[in-house]
Amino acid sequence: MTERPLLEVRDLSKYFPVRGGMLRRVVAQLKAVDGVSFDVPAGKTFGLVGESGCGKSTLGRAVLRLHEPTAGQVRLAGTDITALGRQELVAWRRRMQIIFQDPYASLSPRRTVRQTIREALDTHAIGDNDGRNAEVQRLLEVVGLRRQVLDRYPHEFSGGQRQRVGIARALALKPDFIVADEPVSALDVSVQSQVLNLLAELQRDHGIAFLFISHDLAVVQHISDHVGVMYLGRIVETATAGDIYGEPRHPYTQALMSAIPVPDPKTRRERIVLPGDVPSPIAPPPGCPFHPRCPQAMDICRVQLPPTVNVGTADSPHEVTCHLYDEADGVRADDS
Ligand code: SF4
Repeated sequence: MTERPLLEVRDLSKYFPVRGGMLRRVVAQLKAVDGVSFDVPAGKTFGLVGESGCGKSTLGRAVLRLHEPTAGQVRLAGTDITALGRQELVAWRRRMQIIFQDPYASLSPRRTVRQTIREALDTHAIGDNDGRNAEVQRLLEVVGLRRQVLDRYPHEFSGGQRQRVGIARALALKPDFIVADEPVSALDVSVQSQVLNLLAELQRDHGIAFLFISHDLAVVQHISDHVGVMYLGRIVETATAGDIYGEPRHPYTQALMSAIPVPDPKTRRERIVLPGDVPSPIAPPPGCPFHPRCPQAMDICRVQLPPTVNVGTADSPHEVTCHLYDEADGVRADDS
């Protein structure tokens, strides 16, 4: 029997009302996340990629209910998080944490490292005073910081050190699942690999599952077991990292992958340049939302939303939402 994934996201949507006119009536809905489904097994990483503004961060926050979902379900260890009342949710929040993109903005400038990390232990009344202090020191060691920094303030640290403090804070409640939202984007390249290695180490040692959000395809490839590619609030392709990077099937994924630099100077990859910008999620194009930019768009793409097709196997699904693939057997329509 296959083990149930730790996190199951089903048809999750998050719409924001758009108000206009003198009376500030709702005139439209901004569909930041629109019917997204994916799983994250315990101890694994699901990488989420896409251009800026595609809804990745909103999805991460909706999974944790930091943004209240408009529709859909999020199950953690079989419990539907979206159905919990406020009180019950507080208890479940211990198991689900977030690491933010900007270590400069996510730490209070008026709180020391000790206060920042201890806050969660105080809020959830975990241990006594001595126990909490000892736990803060242990967490600092886990993220590779010295005890001497305990009473320092965020401005006294480098970006990488601040992100380590943010990670220690996320670990304080011993979560099973962490949303890492662009956790290395604000860091120098040399520090990025140190933080990525730390996250990989924490996963190995503590079995934490990650939803790893990034616009950087090389970073996602490095850290992910499975990858989802997002465009205009929807996941358009999902598979193992090996399959997505080895054989991208959706035209949008192919364009993204073509932009990754190849380390070998003798190997040339033809870059697919997409015309135009990502359309507004307030008024997405009809049919396939990618059709105005898609180099392979067909007539049907302009009028009909494509189905999601498994072009992989039952054991190792590779799902693509595109009319190029046939719903019945998952082959390209022009191959058959
Ligand atoms: Fe391109 Fe059509 Fe596939 Fe959309 S459905 S990605 S427009 S080929």
